[in-house]
Amino acid sequence: MEAESEQKQGIIELVEKTPLPRPVSPRDCECGCGNRFQPNRRDQMYLNKQHADYG
Ligand SMILES: [Zn+2]
Repeated sequence: MEAESEQKQGIIELVEKTPLPRPVSPRDCECGCGNRFQPNRRDQMYLNKQHADYG
């Protein structure tokens, strides 16, 4: 007897939820100078330390 075992190997799509490092959107400097900058950190509020001191 020929036992035909047909195993359908469904392609298991493993959607890996790898949290992509979201590029922080550029924001305006909080000191009010009107400069727009790309913050290195998410909590960065000023263009640099000078602006932080100014603000
Ligand atoms: Zn500023």
